[in-house]
Amino acid sequence: MIICPNCRSKEIGKIGSSQFYCWNCFIELSVSKNLISVHQVEEDGSLSSLNDLFEETDRQMDIAGNDS
Ligand SMILES: [Zn+2]
Repeated sequence: MIICPNCRSKEIGKIGSSQFYCWNCFIELSVSKNLISVHQVEEDGSLSSLNDLFEETDRQMDIAGNDS
């Protein structure tokens, strides 16, 4: 289960083997070693990293499944 680090939405679409897309806030997520990288898709189609906006703990996959 992937939860968007930005909006906490669970409406995550899969767009690649380890790439996902948040349908709620329209950001792209990629997963590596249980850490989620967050990218914003710019108008020209390029990606800019949003990782600096999040704590590393916010970007870790919720493998414990402690739903609130
Ligand atoms: Zn989101």
